[in-house]
Amino acid sequence: MITVSHLSKTFYDPDGSALQVLKDVSCDIHPGEVISIIGPSGTGKSTFLRALNLLDPPTGGSIVVDGENILEKGYPVHKLRQKMGMVFQNFNLFSHMTVLENVMYAPCKIRKESVEKAREEGLSLLRKVGLAEKADVYPSLLSGGQKQRVAIARCLAMKPEVILFDEPTSALDPTMVGEVLSVIRQLAKEGMTMIIVTHEMKFARDVSTRVFFMFDGYIHEEGTPHQIFDAPQRSATKAFVQRIRKDVFDVRGEDFDFLDMESRIRRFCIKYNIAEKTEPALQACILMLDKLMADYFPMTVRITHSEMSDETALDFMVEGLQASPLKEGENASLEKLRSLCQEIVEEPTTRGFRVKLRI
Ligand code: ADP
Ligand code: MG
Repeated sequence: MITVSHLSKTFYDPDGSALQVLKDVSCDIHPGEVISIIGPSGTGKSTFLRALNLLDPPTGGSIVVDGENILEKGYPVHKLRQKMGMVFQNFNLFSHMTVLENVMYAPCKIRKESVEKAREEGLSLLRKVGLAEKADVYPSLLSGGQKQRVAIARCLAMKPEVILFDEPTSALDPTMVGEVLSVIRQLAKEGMTMIIVTHEMKFARDVSTRVFFMFDGYIHEEGTPHQIFDAPQRSATKAFVQRIRKDVFDVRGEDFDFLDMESRIRRFCIKYNIAEKTEPALQACILMLDKLMADYFPMTVRITHSEMSDETALDFMVEGLQASPLKEGENASLEKLRSLCQEIVEEPTTRGFRVKLRI
C-alpha cells in the first residue's frame, strides 16, 4: 500500500546551516497494518509523518502509494489527502464551527457530498466516537479528550485508506488518554490501516502489528511488539524500551518535607499512568517512615516505574545497615504493609540495606 525508499529530509536555516532530520528511511506498509512509531523526541517521527502526507515534502527518496510515486512532479496532492488522513497532537478543530460542522466540512467541500448525506454520516461518526450529543456544541466547550475524538471523527469522514496519528494523546490530561486510545483500538479491530507516533508504550504493545523504533533519522529497529519490547536487538532500542522512570527523596530526619514527597509521588503516578498506585504508595511511605523504619534516618527513598514491565517499586535504602529493619517492626504495621504491596524484598546492598516494596 505504501512503500517508502531512502527517504531523507534536510531543513535549511536562513543562515544556510543544514539539519538532516531524516537520513535514510525505508519501509513497506500493508493494508490493515497498525504501525506504532516510538523513539526519543527530536528523532524525526513527526517529520516522517509530515513527509508521508506531503505536509512537509522530503528532500530525497520516494514514497509510492497505491502504485504511484507521490513525490513526482504533478502528483495531485488532493488525491493523497483523500487516501491519507491525519490526526494531530493539538486537535486542530475549526473553532468557529460546531462539532458536526467540523465533521461535515471536508465531505461537503472536497468530496462534494450533499449536505444531507454529510450530516447523516457525520452524526453516525459522532455516535461511533461517543459524542452524538455534542453535535451542535462548539469545540471550546469540549474537554481535550472529546476534542480529539471529534478530530478522529472528522478524519474518518473523508473515508481515508490510512490514518496517521502524531502523538494523539500527549496534549491530554492523563484522565482523558484512555477514551482516545479506546477509539483508536476500535479502529484497529475494524481493520483500519494506521501509523501512530506514540509515547504510550502499553498501548503500542497491545494495538500494533509492527513497531518502528526511530532514532537519529533512521528506523533503527523494527519488529513485532514482542520483538521490540521483549527482545530488542540494538542497544539504543534496549535503552529506550527498558528505561525506568524514577524520583528520589533524601529523608534526613523526621522533620523532612513529607508534603513535598507526597505531591511528587502523586505527580509521578499521574504522569506514568499508574494513578491507581498513588494511595497504596503513599500509605506505604507513611507506614515505613512513621513506624517500620522510623529509627533509620537518614535514608534514601526512591520510586521507580518501568513502563514495559509495568512494575512500580518503592525503595528504602539506609547506608551501613546490616540487616532488615522490618524484623523489629510492629506486627500490625507489617501486616498493613503486606496488604499494600505485591512483594516485599529485603536485601543487602554494597553500602547498606534496602527494603524494596513492589506496589
Ligand atoms: P520528533 O517528532 O521525533 O520529536 P521532529 O520530527 O519533530 O521530531 O523533529 C526532528 C528535528 O527536526 C528536531 O531537531 C527539530 O528541531 C527539527 N525540525 C522539525 N521541524 C523543523 C522545521 N520546520 N524547521 C527546522 N527544523 C525542524
Ligand atoms: Mg513529534
